[in-house]
Amino acid sequence: MPASSIAPAKCDRLVMKVQCSRNSRCLVANRSSKLFFRALLRHGGVVKEFGTREAIVNELADECGLSKVQRSAYLETTYRKQNRLKKSKLWHRLLFRAADSLAKQNLVTRPTETRLLTQERQWMLTERGFDQALALCNIPAREKENLPTKSYEVQKIVNKLLAASVPENYSPFDTKKRLMSTNVEFVLRTRGFRQAVIEAYAHRCAVCGLKIQSPNLITWEVQAAHIVPNGLRGRDDVCNGIALCRLHHWAFDVGWFTLLDDYKLEVSPKIDGVPAHFGKIEKFQFLRSLAKKRGHIHLPPRREIYPHRNAITWHRQNVFSL
Ligand SMILES: [Zn+2]
Repeated sequence: MPASSIAPAKCDRLVMKVQCSRNSRCLVANRSSKLFFRALLRHGGVVKEFGTREAIVNELADECGLSKVQRSAYLETTYRKQNRLKKSKLWHRLLFRAADSLAKQNLVTRPTETRLLTQERQWMLTERGFDQALALCNIPAREKENLPTKSYEVQKIVNKLLAASVPENYSPFDTKKRLMSTNVEFVLRTRGFRQAVIEAYAHRCAVCGLKIQSPNLITWEVQAAHIVPNGLRGRDDVCNGIALCRLHHWAFDVGWFTLLDDYKLEVSPKIDGVPAHFGKIEKFQFLRSLAKKRGHIHLPPRREIYPHRNAITWHRQNVFSL
């Protein structure tokens, strides 16, 4: 920051005097935005406002390698026209400026705006911001469809899906559904479905409970499975979905198991014909372990978004029994 001077204060804190100029604001924002984007990806597209006791403030300081003294440094800003001096925590101020600069470019939404969707004061990626974050973190753009990262636009769809009331005579088919499209609305809807299902099941497999992230904390192993498949125009509704790990997703799609109306598993009788060395992970009998499962699967906290009886009946009759 060329417009700043650093001088040790009488107390053990460092006081940085920064002139409030356009240049210093730009420099601060540029240096912090990459860090901020990375944090947004790690936290699924949202981070809390930079309040005094928020963990994100320390997490970002750790990543920057800030010392204790730097973390507690104060910023004195002089507003010459108003003859006013404002004192604030320097680190909080830098973070706010970086985020605010991104908000001005429509790359994130401000906490006041995000709160309308999530009821929490958070900075949230927009679709444009998501693209930039991926580029900065060297993640291929095609991965975007598989990441459970929130964006403001997708979160709007998630809220709609979670709030939708489903009738008793629900049809899990959308006869007008297009199966392939690059249309923005289609792409966002698909991501909204995946995110709503995975969140509803708290990022874990409904069958085995597996919950695990990538080492960089950006992706989850769990997938959102359609009960009536997408390829047969199954609806992108939470009640036509179930969160499954990759192995159980495959086993469900090919009919190794299905769900009963009380959400217990039923395993295909064909399991008895499987060679003894098939379906094993070391000594763990993957397929036969399903048959031993007692009790219902892990379900979302709200009954209204459980898999719909009409969807699981269709799966039993059309996938499982074949
Ligand atoms: Zn599983």
